Amino acid sequence: MARYTGADCRLCRREGVKLFLKGDRCYTQKCALECRNYAPGEAGKKRVKESEYRTQLREKQKTKRIYGVLEKQFHHYYEVASRQQGVTGSNLLALLETRLDNVVYRLGFAKSRDEARQQVRHGHITVNGRRVDIPSFRVRPGDLVAVAPKAKDMLVIKSALIANERVQVPAWLEVDIEKLQGSVLSVPTRDQIDMDIREQLIVELYSK
Ligand code: SF4
Repeated sequence: MARYTGADCRLCRREGVKLFLKGDRCYTQKCALECRNYAPGEAGKKRVKESEYRTQLREKQKTKRIYGVLEKQFHHYYEVASRQQGVTGSNLLALLETRLDNVVYRLGFAKSRDEARQQVRHGHITVNGRRVDIPSFRVRPGDLVAVAPKAKDMLVIKSALIANERVQVPAWLEVDIEKLQGSVLSVPTRDQIDMDIREQLIVELYSK
């Protein structure tokens, strides 16, 4: 499967905001945005002319990068969202949030979505007792997402649990840390998605 293999911090510098792609490091002074808060490349420090199109494009790029989704799949999510009932932008975010890799991250079993994606790909995660190794797998209300028995003692998961100790699990999920499992209570509503994303700009961009 195609995926971005460049430096994560370049993506944050391009967007000018922290996308929290590298776990612990993002909360320290080692964060690239703390010392080089300008776009990467030779023209990085030049002033950029703002336009409506640019604002919409950057919001879309930022969202794609937060969730680690490439253009084709992201556009597919938009098309699905626009066919669903309700507000397209909220539907789009709900589709992104219910990806299995994001759920593993939200439950606190990984320090970043990238790490969660690795866990899923390596077969360390089960859904309703069956191993699922597709990061984009869409979870539904009632699903039980768990760390596979063989992976429960893995250091990477233990250290993620420690790092995420104080992180609040969103209201649409319920976690059982002892059993290393979590339930999907509902599809997330917009107010349950604590993300600084202006999804309406993405809808406007794709509607052109
Ligand atoms: Fe982004 Fe994290 Fe890198 Fe900082 S450390 S630039 S938040 S990925």
